[in-house]
Amino acid sequence: MNDEQLLRYARHVLLDEFGIEGQERVLSARALIIGAGGLGSPAALYLASAGVGHIVLADDDEVELSNLQRQILHTTARVGQAKAQSGKLALNALNPDVRVDAVVARLLGPALDEQVAQADLVLDCCDNFATRHAVNRACVRYGKPLVSGAAIRFAGQVSVFDLRRADAPCYHCLFPEADDVEELRCATTGVLGPLVGIVGSMQAAEALKVITGMGDTLTGRMLCLDALAMQWQTIRFRRDPACPVCSGR
Ligand SMILES: [Zn+2]
Repeated sequence: MNDEQLLRYARHVLLDEFGIEGQERVLSARALIIGAGGLGSPAALYLASAGVGHIVLADDDEVELSNLQRQILHTTARVGQAKAQSGKLALNALNPDVRVDAVVARLLGPALDEQVAQADLVLDCCDNFATRHAVNRACVRYGKPLVSGAAIRFAGQVSVFDLRRADAPCYHCLFPEADDVEELRCATTGVLGPLVGIVGSMQAAEALKVITGMGDTLTGRMLCLDALAMQWQTIRFRRDPACPVCSGR
């Protein structure tokens, strides 16, 4: 690390659990962030500010005026731009040390596999079950840690599926894929702006723990927030031995 980096990251380096070694790990890490919306905005901003060396930000959407109530990567002037590109501008302005690849696409199939294979960890910041399950399957396939977040209305969820570990549950163990699941969308049901900030920030915190190895991550636990009552609940879960996605690993 050079002097400027030591200064920029001093408040992390000062933490005994983080230190120079943790910062070096962060600087050499590659994070794949799926979704540059409400969750991806704070997650990407905190990972870029922490100096995550290489961030791949994937989103196929464009910035709309109705996004700006919560998607803090974007600005009024960038309405109409691709969210991945708009996000890259925000992250580069915050920390020019970070290499940001903007992927203007909904990652699926071989393109998703290729990105997951190259990533050190994956943050699921998307808004639909099909993508969540595709991302989970790719993370199981390549043994990559998955930091998962979701938020709708006043309800938020966050968990970690550390698929580097053979005994760790996957997303499908907790939420088996089903055709009849009714999907709630922010576009039709609404979502409290700061709620996605809370959940996305927690994803960034868990991602930094995964990268540095400090503390205990949310592996095997899901935190659920009711932002109206402002109450948290912890749900503990285990690997499903019959899970069709991860039981073969
Ligand atoms: Zn599973």
